[in-house]
Amino acid sequence: MNIHSNIIHLQKKISIALAENQRSPASLLLLAVSKGQNTQAIASAFDAGIRDFGENYWQEALIKIKHFAEFPILWHIIGSIQSNKAAQIAQSVHWVHTLDREKIARLLSTHRPTHLAPLNVCIEINLDEESSKSGISCQEALDFAQFVSTLPRLKLRGLMAIPTPVSDPDLQYQRFLHLAQLLSLCNEKIGLEMDTLSMGMSADYCAAIRAGSTIIRIGQAIFGPRAL
Ligand SMILES: *Cc1c(COP(=O)(O)O)cnc(C)c1O
Repeated sequence: MNIHSNIIHLQKKISIALAENQRSPASLLLLAVSKGQNTQAIASAFDAGIRDFGENYWQEALIKIKHFAEFPILWHIIGSIQSNKAAQIAQSVHWVHTLDREKIARLLSTHRPTHLAPLNVCIEINLDEESSKSGISCQEALDFAQFVSTLPRLKLRGLMAIPTPVSDPDLQYQRFLHLAQLLSLCNEKIGLEMDTLSMGMSADYCAAIRAGSTIIRIGQAIFGPRAL
């Protein structure tokens, strides 16, 4: 599996999707999801120009963050956070995409060191209202966004979602558009200036770009199929 050529290929497809939607290249961040990948794979992606990496599991993330301590990498947490890990996470990463509990939000803010910029956070929305999934419901989004915006050491950047996978691009687009509309609603109703939609993965990033995604989270299209 050639990570470098995967990235070149992906970037071409991303450029086309952006151009089709009259969007500038600077309006989208490609986040490489490196869960389950070793440090060699991450180094290959880094050499190909990737600077943002997403990890789901803290134990695994911490090993990699330490390994790449001297590299100009921005680390994003995209998995659920246990309260006993919140302090360490607040000290070590640049972004958290999966905020969905007040307790965790408070802990992250409390433990964000003052020598670092406020921690960038996105609220995870359970778009399909599936009880088995993490994230907060669309109904609760306004109140939760309002709460998070008051925490001094967090910077509320936007919303994130993992919609139920469907293969039809138009259906994918509808779900993503729903998240985009929720972001606008939150901004209008409570005067926030959220600028981030973290949506789109290997199988649906084109639809996400069309709906206004600003961060796509890509694993398999960069690193190849995951062995689980
Ligand atoms: C694994 C994962 C991704 C990447 O999924 P791919 O299908 O490999 O692109 C994106 N976001 C989250 C939250 C993930 O857990």
